[in-house]
Amino acid sequence: MSDSTQPKRATTIPDSLDLTRSIKRLSVPFDSGTFPLSEGSHQRSTVLICRDNDAKKWGPRWLKQAGLKTTIISAVRTAHDEAAAAKPDVIIVEAGILDHAGTPLFAILNKSPDIRCPIIVLCSGSKDMYSALDANVYDVIRKPLEWQLLSHRARQAAESQVNAASLESAQTSLTEAVQIADEARQRLRSRESFEPVTGLPNKTKFIDLLTRGMMAVDRDKNTLAVLVVGFNRFRLVVEAMGQDRANLVLGEIGNIVSQCLQDAESAQQQTTGLRTAAASSIELAKFGLMFTCSESDEAITHLQQLVVEKLSHPVQVAGQTVHLSACVGVALYPQDASDVDQLLQRADNAMRDAQSRGGGFRFYCEETDAAAARKLKLENMLYEALGRDELSVSYQPISNTESGRITGAEALLRWHQADGTCISPGEFVPIAEDAGLMTRIGEFVLDQACRQLEIWQEDDVPIEHMCVNVSKAQLVGGGFVRTVANLLDKYKIDPGCLELELSERGVLSGRFDVIDQLHELKKLGVTLSIDDFGTGDSAIAYLRDLPVDTLKIDRSYVSGLTRNSKDAALIAAMIALSQKLDLKVIAEGVETRQQVNMLKKLGCSEFQGFYVSASVPPEEFPKLVIKSI
Ligand code: C2E
Ligand code: CA
Ligand code: CA
Repeated sequence: MSDSTQPKRATTIPDSLDLTRSIKRLSVPFDSGTFPLSEGSHQRSTVLICRDNDAKKWGPRWLKQAGLKTTIISAVRTAHDEAAAAKPDVIIVEAGILDHAGTPLFAILNKSPDIRCPIIVLCSGSKDMYSALDANVYDVIRKPLEWQLLSHRARQAAESQVNAASLESAQTSLTEAVQIADEARQRLRSRESFEPVTGLPNKTKFIDLLTRGMMAVDRDKNTLAVLVVGFNRFRLVVEAMGQDRANLVLGEIGNIVSQCLQDAESAQQQTTGLRTAAASSIELAKFGLMFTCSESDEAITHLQQLVVEKLSHPVQVAGQTVHLSACVGVALYPQDASDVDQLLQRADNAMRDAQSRGGGFRFYCEETDAAAARKLKLENMLYEALGRDELSVSYQPISNTESGRITGAEALLRWHQADGTCISPGEFVPIAEDAGLMTRIGEFVLDQACRQLEIWQEDDVPIEHMCVNVSKAQLVGGGFVRTVANLLDKYKIDPGCLELELSERGVLSGRFDVIDQLHELKKLGVTLSIDDFGTGDSAIAYLRDLPVDTLKIDRSYVSGLTRNSKDAALIAAMIALSQKLDLKVIAEGVETRQQVNMLKKLGCSEFQGFYVSASVPPEEFPKLVIKSI
């Protein structure tokens, strides 16, 4: 209990005038009818420490009338402990009771930390009174005792004790209320300025920081770099993990981004002194960084590389590994923009441009504006394309290297816009994945391809297998295995004729979260192939760990086959490896007779490419097959 909450005690009165006044106060006439016993008030208690038998006899009666229950203590030796144990609301003690060392008991009680109630001292003369007042006791009453007055004063003292306690508790509650209000205000303020998932400044705050940074740049004649960090296919992380876990991933990314800025900052400080820097969370899965530098500063490139590099490591969250592909866009003030909105927009455009190139970082230039605008336009048009039947599937033949016969087909998505423009799937598939449209589109392709296979088989077109590309979006959404099973059933297709292509950079990046589904697909009897083999970074591990049947050697190796001995050696090694693992090999992007001959020599069983034909509409495909027989 703080001093301010202790029951008020009479202060030491040094001169006679004050003493007289004090005594006067103590002798206020007693009105027996006005005891402050309100209805429902609790019974108070007092400890009366006295030797006087009269006091022992009359005291409890009078005190009872004043609503006080009395405990009498007469043994000096145990008086302190008994009084403390009784926890009374007031103690009444005779001044003349001394301990073995001659110290008045009231002084001992008054100083004791175990006794927190007011003490009234019964005094026999002025000497007692002076010494009691000097000890700063609550009240003194002079003998001969007037019991009515004493019990009234005792009751008042007891009430003051209770009031002090409730005052203390009221003050504690008030302090707590003030603290809660302060915390609430702080939370509100931080909600206004910070993004709750990452704890980083939010967009409003970032714009404020940018505005101030730009003013400083105007004054100091240097440069403000703004970086926007985004991710390819973050939507898939949310779909696969759920929003709560995806938030944990975002929190971890926020930490990494801030750490990158700190690292870059401390590296800079060693050479060029303190700069302004801030990291912020500006949208879901989009982060902003700003710092001042000189225009040709290598720190900008360094920071971009650092962010891309750090974020290319898998992030571990709640026992799951998440593989991310970060893209960074940069715009500079005053070189690239004249105001905050434009600066942020242009850094964002540069980021989108990096995104459509598959990752990495990109500085703002006019081209990036155009690329970002096109990406946005395509995204909007894709929604309409679905409704307008602008999407279709065409088929590229796959041939046997030895016989030259067409034995299979790869289904490839085509987007013919109403004005006749054709958009490449290489461009719009990633956009559809980002926009969450690829599950629907992928299902459409699969349905078309299965339907087509049924038609050709009914028409006796001798096609042994149909290859269909699978997007990661189809696998993370769940339900893909069921979709495939339903389509096999619907079109009465031999499952062994359907080959699902999983691209190394797409489906198999961050790969093993799909492995269970791949095993389930295998159980259906369909075959699985690794598309673009050799373009990812763990090609050999796929062969060991995934239940695949076929390798599709990427076009980039095939194009150098007849010109570059290293490519030839690599393809030879891939084929030898596949033979050992009992896998089929299909070479992609075969454009010349020499390439076909070379592949035949190396033992590659099948190939596809412009040498035989580009993809064609379904009605033209049987003609190609017949020609090849
Ligand atoms: P991909 O799966 O590697 O498909 C082969 C691509 O190479 C096709 O491009 C094809 O037209 C092209 N190509 C075939 N032979 C040659 C050749 O001899 N020379 C050259 N230069 N190119 C050749 P396309 O149709 O533009 O598709 C590009 C990519 O888009 C595909 O690469 C695939 O990753 C994706 N894609 C296409 N259709 C689908 C689909 O239905 N679903 C999914 N998820 N992705 C698809
Ligand atoms: Ca493919
Ligand atoms: Ca391919």
